[in-house]
Amino acid sequence: MGGDVIAAVSTPRGRGGVAMIRISGDGAIECASRMFIPAGSTPLAATRHATARYGRIIMPPEGEVIDDGVCVIYRAPHSFTGEDTAEVTCHGGVLVTARVLEAAFAAGARPAEAGEFTRRAFLSGKITLSQAEATGRLIEAKTDSQLKLSSSTARGALSAEVSDIYSNLRSLVARTYVTIDYPEEDLADITADELRAGAVAASERLRRLCATYKTGRAVTDGIEAVICGRPNAGKSTLFNLFAGEGSAIVTDIAGTTRDTLRADVAAGRVLLHLYDTAGLRVDNVDDPIERIGVSRAREKISAAELIIAVFDATEKPSDADSELLKATVPVKIAVINKADAAPDENISAYKALADDADTPAIVMSAAKGDGFDELVAEIERIFTDTEIDLSSDAVLATARQFHEAKGALVRVMGAIAALDSGLPTDIAAGELEGALTHLASLDGREVTEEIVSEIFSKFCVGK
Ligand code: GDP
Repeated sequence: MGGDVIAAVSTPRGRGGVAMIRISGDGAIECASRMFIPAGSTPLAATRHATARYGRIIMPPEGEVIDDGVCVIYRAPHSFTGEDTAEVTCHGGVLVTARVLEAAFAAGARPAEAGEFTRRAFLSGKITLSQAEATGRLIEAKTDSQLKLSSSTARGALSAEVSDIYSNLRSLVARTYVTIDYPEEDLADITADELRAGAVAASERLRRLCATYKTGRAVTDGIEAVICGRPNAGKSTLFNLFAGEGSAIVTDIAGTTRDTLRADVAAGRVLLHLYDTAGLRVDNVDDPIERIGVSRAREKISAAELIIAVFDATEKPSDADSELLKATVPVKIAVINKADAAPDENISAYKALADDADTPAIVMSAAKGDGFDELVAEIERIFTDTEIDLSSDAVLATARQFHEAKGALVRVMGAIAALDSGLPTDIAAGELEGALTHLASLDGREVTEEIVSEIFSKFCVGK
């Protein structure tokens, strides 16, 4: 059962070769028939599923021709939304596209709300909640890794894993209730040991799934990172390496990078919200502009998750350098810069300093780009699990998904603890039901009904 007929332009705004107007809902094909006249004798309404028709796009009711184009018909439930759908492709001019959309409205459709096609796909059970979310992220993807991950989640990698854990748990719960409620039936009796083994298996899978959030978050939400160091250390040069040419201004005069510059950049698979700070110039705080830069830099540093501390190895380390590395701010990487022009003893001195502060050190020449790959690899090593394949593995990518997976894990652990303290199996099953609720919210399912139907279908109770 579909919703009312909605229409929207599904291709990006602006000039393009072609544009596509999607019409979906109960009566979508009839609606399209009023504004699209196919060539040939078969009327549009008689078009088979997933078939393209060439024809004229007209403005109802007068029938003025707007454009010629192609209309593809999809019949429920075999469309993206699960409803009858017509996709009308026309020439991609801004005006033409607007007129075709107007024709769809004149033919009886109403404007679709933001995300309404995807919402209908979710409501008709075509996709899960995590797939719907990933579809949104797929469109927004900024980095290659984001694209890989959202595409894999949209195709259902996460849903498949969640659904598998879910059905195993559901089966445990159903078998436990059957054993308790219908002891005489001798159906699928489950012992406390079997229940425990099942719960342990689920807890291991959930723990592995939760661990993927570290990677998912670094890829999807990204990491707040700050490049800091003394004036002239090479911060802007490094920032430019990340951001590509021309994003930050590099100068020869110490202290000229006063303001904070920000760019979203990809460090391998990690999305960095990268800030290039003004030099923390303690010797020049009289300059009011410098002061603003310094206070902003401090603010950014305190909010950051990663500090890339850049050192100019052509100069000897100072106490301030050592302090910066030892300060209890978040994860740090020491970049020992200007290696191309620095004496070995200075490089060694900085290495010792980093070692002392338990901080990984990368010897670099930002100007030449040497050592940049090592820096990126270090960032990936810190913030992602390099074993994870973003194109195929189940990965938690949002705080919401992580919250539900972790909630499920806590309840499964509760079930194991209940069994270990000798509590009756229905207490443990109650905990597992709690876990099911979390997993259900993760992918937008209905729990109670599913348990009941599992009990009554699989086990044929009351036959
Ligand atoms: P910032 O003040 O820390 O942002 O430093 P900049 O990035 O503006 O660099 C200051 C000066 O150092 C510029 O003249 C750069 O060309 C130079 N520089 C940066 N990185 C290197 C490097 O790896 N080797 C050498 N020899 N010079 C560099």
